[in-house]
Amino acid sequence: MDRRFNCICQSENCLGYIQGAAHLPLNIFKKYKLSDYIQQKLGIKFKN
Ligand SMILES: [Zn+2]
Repeated sequence: MDRRFNCICQSENCLGYIQGAAHLPLNIFKKYKLSDYIQQKLGIKFKN
């Protein structure tokens, strides 16, 4: 499934164009607290 999308969460830490979780280094998930929107779009969920 193509999960690329242009994020519109407006977060200050927004990564903008998301190419899917596979394109993002795992540490970026820790560095940036991804918005619920992104997590939802990527089909992932992290506990904070
Ligand atoms: Zn965003």
